[in-house]
Amino acid sequence: MGLAHQLVGSVSFALGIGPWGKYLNVRLTLSGGTYANRVSTRPIRPTTSGGGKPDAAEQAQTAATPTGETRTALVRRARRIGRELALTYPDAHCELNFDNPLQLVIATILSAQCTDVRVNLVTPALFAKYPDAASLAAADRAELETMIQSTGFFRAKANSLLGMANAICERYGGEVPRRMKDLVTLPGVGRKTANVVLGNAFDVPGITVDTHFGRLSRRFGWTDQIDPEKVEVEVGSLFPRKDWTMLSHELIFHGRRCCFARRPACGACTVAKWCPSYGEGPTDPKVAAKMIKTGVA
Ligand code: SF4
Repeated sequence: MGLAHQLVGSVSFALGIGPWGKYLNVRLTLSGGTYANRVSTRPIRPTTSGGGKPDAAEQAQTAATPTGETRTALVRRARRIGRELALTYPDAHCELNFDNPLQLVIATILSAQCTDVRVNLVTPALFAKYPDAASLAAADRAELETMIQSTGFFRAKANSLLGMANAICERYGGEVPRRMKDLVTLPGVGRKTANVVLGNAFDVPGITVDTHFGRLSRRFGWTDQIDPEKVEVEVGSLFPRKDWTMLSHELIFHGRRCCFARRPACGACTVAKWCPSYGEGPTDPKVAAKMIKTGVA
């Protein structure tokens, strides 16, 4: 249990449940800095400099943050979590196997509603049979559908693959384009897929808002948006652009291994100290440690 949680626990005990009910907030001063923590999933209340109503400057600073922290505090806390996740997952990476941009586009299209492990089982034969956009564009649909059937939604995915390959041949000379505005014109390619390709095949920083990234961003109080594009913009504003791709990998790793959708393993979480949603899952370290997954994709 982190120091913050011990303090929260002890203050809760000393005051009883208190006037905020279970949404008691505690401002802590640690190592010269402050941050707010809480014991629920509700937003943290705005803090005030002298008690009572927040002053105008505080209101202006807190208005845009979902937790009620100041913007500065939110950025600091977000980056603290980011640094800790980088230490926790030093090998975080795109878990889809690929050797070139086209292969990554194909694998990412297939990964919709499917695990990366499953996609990685299917793609070697696919890449061997269709080594470039022209061969994929000319693929026999029935044959292609059979090859990708186990990834689910295979008819729609076959449509996307054929449409994408044709568009690349007709409009981009057979090469995957390197710009977001071009990538998103390809059939089956939305911003999520485009950011995966930009970040991992072209080294252009991009935030990949998949189900894990969205869920964790909201649990961290970095955003309260549901729409992936809005999540991308709001979370992107908290971090330097150069960190976007690795941040995406680290959040996705954490979501797959610890911060699960239904029962996050809070008691074994390395960023619990800075997470406003601590307590959504078991906090007992022994119980939580058994829930941690390794080597999943
Ligand atoms: S596991 Fe719990 S403490 Fe960790 S990030 Fe998820 S909700 Fe927060």
